Amino acid sequence: MIKYQVNCPVPASHYFAVSMRIDNPDPAGQALRLPNWIPGSYMIRDFARNLLDLRVTCDGNEIALEQLDKSNWRSAPCDGELVVEYLVYAKDLSVRTAYLDHTRGYYNGSSLFLEAPGLSGEPCEVMIEKPADSRYAGWRLATSLRRKQAGKFEFGLYAAADYDELIDHPVEMGEFTVIPFEACGVPHDIVLAGRFDCDQARLAADLKTICEHHIRFFGEPAPMDYYQFQVMIVGDGYGGLEHRASTSLVARRASLPRPGEDGVSDDYREFLGLCSHEYFHTWNVKRIKPEAYRPYDLQQEVYTDLLWAFEGITSYYDDLALRRAGLIDAPSYLELLAQIMTRVQRGAGRLRQSAAESSFNTWTKFYKQDENAANAIVSYYAKGSLIAACIDLKMRLSSDGHRSLDDVMRHLWRDYLETGEGIGRERIQQLVGELCGEDLADYLEQMIYGTGDLPLPQLLEAMGIEVAVRAQAGAQDKGGKPVDKQPPAVDLGARLKAGEGAVTVQSVREGGAAQTAGLAAGDQLVAVDGLKLDIAKIEDRLGRAKPGDVWQLHAFRRDELHCLDVELQPAAENTFVLAIGDPVSDLCRAWLGL
Ligand SMILES: [Zn+2]
Repeated sequence: MIKYQVNCPVPASHYFAVSMRIDNPDPAGQALRLPNWIPGSYMIRDFARNLLDLRVTCDGNEIALEQLDKSNWRSAPCDGELVVEYLVYAKDLSVRTAYLDHTRGYYNGSSLFLEAPGLSGEPCEVMIEKPADSRYAGWRLATSLRRKQAGKFEFGLYAAADYDELIDHPVEMGEFTVIPFEACGVPHDIVLAGRFDCDQARLAADLKTICEHHIRFFGEPAPMDYYQFQVMIVGDGYGGLEHRASTSLVARRASLPRPGEDGVSDDYREFLGLCSHEYFHTWNVKRIKPEAYRPYDLQQEVYTDLLWAFEGITSYYDDLALRRAGLIDAPSYLELLAQIMTRVQRGAGRLRQSAAESSFNTWTKFYKQDENAANAIVSYYAKGSLIAACIDLKMRLSSDGHRSLDDVMRHLWRDYLETGEGIGRERIQQLVGELCGEDLADYLEQMIYGTGDLPLPQLLEAMGIEVAVRAQAGAQDKGGKPVDKQPPAVDLGARLKAGEGAVTVQSVREGGAAQTAGLAAGDQLVAVDGLKLDIAKIEDRLGRAKPGDVWQLHAFRRDELHCLDVELQPAAENTFVLAIGDPVSDLCRAWLGL
């Protein structure tokens, strides 16, 4: 048994004080290590950078601790109980690490708990202490970790079967709101932290609908006996991380439904999609996993080319489930699908990197995007979800509606329940072929390992969906919606952002007008044809320009002024709009749950 203790001596200092007791340490010297990354977020984050004042005692006497590398240590030989004590600096307001101040505490175990290699399979206990000062009297604690000696939402003693489980239940502490509901008989809680004004009954009803949809999709019973949505509400922010019996989310205040509000706003739809996404992961990636994640090596990068399936298929079903569960209508779902098609189509990186390569290189590319990302890479989330759509529609079309990606997912789930094994790189292609009775291996390989455009528009049309493609109608145009006025005939080939006294170039499209003229990300545009500019003026001029028109642009690069002639190019047809054809086909009804 490894016994941990977590204290918040002075929350305003952002330090968690952690201790760890090992009854039977390795007599030759106990190894200790801290993860360098957290499952679900594929970047080396070196959590040990936040670790301070590390000391080790054996039977009460301080003993030597040798640091082996950035995240590994070994104690001097020790005969008796080993106690390890340290501080962890916690000031990252994300779902990936840890945060502590006088308003709130939050942590992932991967940031806080040293692991004792060799004893990782031992059961763990963690005593989480409430901050002592009376001003924290109202603080409660929320986690899906098993309670050992603690009331519900109380500080106290919690337990895990092993280290892997210990670090997969994030902990929220502070004065939060709890909204309970049941889904297929399983108790769920929404824990809302931060400042907000929300229709709590509606939120609970909508999340219950999503959760019951996913549980029934894979088949009852649910794989967990309790689930917690931990939501940190902020003015501006977005993110989520999946765990085996909970998820941590960061969401914008405006994304919650306000009391008295009807309909599903775009912001609320996005929030529901995020909840749906993380909940789907309870099956797809938390349990059905790539072989490479069994077990995780949290010391270094772990490579798989399957994130297109684990993130992409999850991204496909997150929005589709909102439609099938009746929370949004079919036009609203098709708008979301068209926006993802548009996002992928607008990046030239899709012609350069496959979804499999994007998965494999997530550590250095997807998670470390720079201003050239759209030209260099494709998102395994976005393209992966479109590949999932292609597989789903292809299966429905070639089996006359008898088979679909739903069957593939249920099959993977049954395999997991039977064997507990991870899935290999060919497994999905093989299953699709088996289920359809048709060899689709080459067809799927092209989509997963190739860089050509996906056959999704054709598949959608075969399903009876009308597919329209047009040029982008302004910076805010994400696709999915028809526009009342004709989009510009020309394209500048740059993403722009309004700044003080100038417009900043955020990125340039490879081979586009801006790049050809010499403009680069970071340049500050100040004038066009001798007149001071802003975003609205540029958009207005673009609306009236013709291909071949030349603009004289004045731009600062660092503190140097440059004058450049930009020859405008014809606007690319890169924006999708989808609509249900009339009459609605039976295949389409089954697909969209109509
Ligand atoms: Zn995800």
